[in-house]
Amino acid sequence: MMGHRQVDQAAFFYEFSLEKHVPTEHLLRSIDRFVELGALRRELAAFYSTLGRPSIDPELMIRMLIVGYCFGIRSERRLCEEVHLNLAYRWFCRLGLDGCVPDHSTFSKNRHGRFRQSDLLRRVFETVLQRCLREGLVGGEGFAVDASLIKADANRQNGIEGEKGLPPEATGRAIEEYLAVLDDAAFGAATEVTPKFVSPADPAARWTGAHGGQAFFAYSTNYLIDVENAIIVDVEATTAIRQAEVLAAKRMIERTMERFDLYPARLLGDSAYGSAEMLGWLVYEHGIEPHVTVFDKSARKDGTFSRDDFTYDPAGDVYRCPGGAMLTTTGTLVNDGATMLYRASKHDCEGCALKHRCCPKEPARKIPRSIHEGARDRARQIAKSWQGQTSRRLRKKVEMLFAHLKRILKLDRLRLRGPNGARDEFLLAATAQNLRKLAKLIPMPILRQA
Ligand code: SF4
Repeated sequence: MMGHRQVDQAAFFYEFSLEKHVPTEHLLRSIDRFVELGALRRELAAFYSTLGRPSIDPELMIRMLIVGYCFGIRSERRLCEEVHLNLAYRWFCRLGLDGCVPDHSTFSKNRHGRFRQSDLLRRVFETVLQRCLREGLVGGEGFAVDASLIKADANRQNGIEGEKGLPPEATGRAIEEYLAVLDDAAFGAATEVTPKFVSPADPAARWTGAHGGQAFFAYSTNYLIDVENAIIVDVEATTAIRQAEVLAAKRMIERTMERFDLYPARLLGDSAYGSAEMLGWLVYEHGIEPHVTVFDKSARKDGTFSRDDFTYDPAGDVYRCPGGAMLTTTGTLVNDGATMLYRASKHDCEGCALKHRCCPKEPARKIPRSIHEGARDRARQIAKSWQGQTSRRLRKKVEMLFAHLKRILKLDRLRLRGPNGARDEFLLAATAQNLRKLAKLIPMPILRQA
């Protein structure tokens, strides 16, 4: 007869050392070296007694969140369960074997309450970045910028027509946050275009069909990275629209200069950042080399001469047309106040043999030129050089970080709603990515046997 195996659980943990049971090669062991919450403790002190009842140690909450975002566990319920059961997670969270793990509802309440208002997650992100700087992982020479759409926690079937607006009875935290960012250029003020659909569950999420398939509600996560080791030097949440992403790029560059004294020599980006205004901002205001694809719609498709067929002469500030005539400007700014028009004389065009290929429907040809055109020309020159080719390759490092974010950290859909929820999730994910990078690039010291 088969007997029962006798296992006494109480005795099993007798003299059990958690420290000895976490493998030396475990990712959390490596990451733990770079989690420095000492400097934050003074700021955290205010939260120890005011986080409600039962209160959660804010340091425990940060450590649990780091575990969650490093291992793609974003459900608060599951995170609490995993930390309770997993020895390595317990060790990392300084819980010992019998430390109490908060229940998920208390965890959630604390996380979304005063803890969020403290902007502590940004401080945690910056503390990790500071460590990357100290370890010499940030070159500070070349930065790359890009944005990626992340699905919001908003059911596309429940979207209501944007023209109709939100129903008056709609309430909740996400609605309050939406109203709070209506004038923010990264959210409500990014465009005056009314979206086709609005989500009553998370109205700040933008209805977008940018991926070409089925449209969905989304936010954008914006990364500014140092290309040397693909360290994320800043992250920003915005609504999923290009204007907001460009604004985020400017905010991130300026914030990095201000907080970390990092002045990049060049910025790498795709054509989303290649408007004349953005390139002018980079070159003239900050002296940053624009390794950015120029956003240019001046090419004509009807067979008539495009602007590229005209040669600009900077010395005389005139254009030369293919027929050899000169186009001059009065210097008056038109359209958006950032464009000058260069006109050929009627006399030249009337008798020109090329008129049917140049301006068949107008008496004379005119060429618009942005006041930032010099910056655009610089970007075009760079794009043709070998440095430009190298930059296009290096730009893929941001895309790889987004792929890692979605596939490994499983952040392809947000769990939290509202702009603050998106901000929290993106900050935590970027912090986790930098910590994993630190762990990968700086090997654990080998302990010698005595
Ligand atoms: S039509 Fe006028 S602008 Fe055009 S090629 Fe002839 S002269 Fe030059």
